[in-house]
Amino acid sequence: MAKKTNALNLFGQAAWEGVDTARKAQHRDDNAGVSEIMTLWKQCLEIIKDNLSVQVFRTWFEPIKALSFEEGEVTLQVPSQFYYEWLEEHYNTLLQKSVYQVFGTDTTLKYQVVIDSKKESLEQRTITLPGFRHSGVSAIQTKLPFVPASSSVEHFSSYLNPRYTFDNFIIGDSNQLACSAANAVAENSGRTRFNPLVLYSGNGLGKTHLVQAIGNRILKKNKRARVIYTTSERFTMEFVSAIQNNSHSAFSAFYRSMDVLIVDDIQFFANKEKTQDNFFHTFNALHQAGKQLIFGSDIPPKELKDIDERLISRFQWGLTADIQPPDLEMRMAIVQRKSKDEGITLPFYVVEYIAKQVTSNVREIEGCLISLIAKVSFDKRSITLDLVKEVVQSVVREVARKPLSVDEIKAEVSSHFNVSLDLLAGKTRKHEIVLARQAAMYFAKQLTTLSLKSIGSNFGGKDHSTVLHSINTIENYLVTDQTVSQSLELLRKNLTRKR
Ligand code: ADP
Ligand code: MG
Repeated sequence: MAKKTNALNLFGQAAWEGVDTARKAQHRDDNAGVSEIMTLWKQCLEIIKDNLSVQVFRTWFEPIKALSFEEGEVTLQVPSQFYYEWLEEHYNTLLQKSVYQVFGTDTTLKYQVVIDSKKESLEQRTITLPGFRHSGVSAIQTKLPFVPASSSVEHFSSYLNPRYTFDNFIIGDSNQLACSAANAVAENSGRTRFNPLVLYSGNGLGKTHLVQAIGNRILKKNKRARVIYTTSERFTMEFVSAIQNNSHSAFSAFYRSMDVLIVDDIQFFANKEKTQDNFFHTFNALHQAGKQLIFGSDIPPKELKDIDERLISRFQWGLTADIQPPDLEMRMAIVQRKSKDEGITLPFYVVEYIAKQVTSNVREIEGCLISLIAKVSFDKRSITLDLVKEVVQSVVREVARKPLSVDEIKAEVSSHFNVSLDLLAGKTRKHEIVLARQAAMYFAKQLTTLSLKSIGSNFGGKDHSTVLHSINTIENYLVTDQTVSQSLELLRKNLTRKR
């Protein structure tokens, strides 16, 4: 019990002091000086450290350099694209919370990613990428491609990440069809039967990489092509803010002026009826004009729930291709290729060890390699099998190798909220019980490898959209409600300690 209070105080106090410091800094000068940004960043790190194991903290957060805090935007430098992806994927919420607490809630985050440290000019050495990509609330504050004021928009960001190309995409049996279809579309955009092209797979298997590779290839061939990459969440947020700003028709015109529209994670259109309606008309306009539509989804289109039937049927007009998890040979090829790209040569037995141990997805393989590279370059350790084992264990454990069981999660949540297990899986709509239930589903998604569907069936047969809704609600709380979010962070800490 004493522990609980301490953790809360620490979190709360850091928040209070942080906001205060940030305000003072902003009053004095909008451009915080170098020492100021370092002080503020140090406060962020304190909060982050408190929520992670030492090992994880050292690997992912110590190498980050805080560069500047200007006009409400924090810029962090990370040593490679790997880092950027990993941080955004795994520590987005924690980073966002600490940045909001220390720098203020209207802060945006930008990363300067080192892509080639040997190049002379800063432009060649680094690329700049947006932070808080996966979060619902703050993405409104990050710069959106659709800008109402300049709606005719000759200049807009395609939001494509230049790292995602066909050249660095490794092909194997598991992604052969998806990859050939993507190639065909990139070569003959709008003129194949693959319109729309829908790629679906589990997490971390290369959908985003492939859909963006198409966009990058099209733009490489024709710089003037109007190509845009977005996600269903970003599209939704822009649509909502366009309605609020009375720029609804400019918004529609903007998206309908594209030659290639790439929308990732279309499963998150679920339950957004008005957005779906707008998107449906956008789809029709583009399709009729022979423009290319490309989508990424976690779920096969025909199984999408809470999405209008007419939209689901349109998703199936072209080609739907899935990507399966890579087999051993392909995982070995991935380890070899990625380590080579990062400038390290791994002995064969190390390649084999990683490929045998890290089986679930490509993102985790990348995670192991980054961690390994960090150990070799920052800690100056040489590559031995023991070191590799240590790295694989820590990364894989951090993500999913030792998932908690849903029962363990339920038990912890039930004691945290003082809600019985029956009520947790039941239908009661009382606020406290609903919150506990939603939190349990959220943590089940975060800390186990179960699909939304199986999580649902662990909670009295809820369907996957209910689980998705619960997750969204909790993610919202995490950034908007300090009391709930402190309680949830404490719960998260207690849960992860169990692993
Ligand atoms: P998804 O969108 O399916 O969750 P991503 O496209 O984000 O997955 O892939 C996760 C990471 O794995 C990315 O860094 C991506 O570059 C990498 N990746 C996935 N598949 C491959 C592949 N076949 N070859 C090379 N890199 C891959
Ligand atoms: Mg993706």
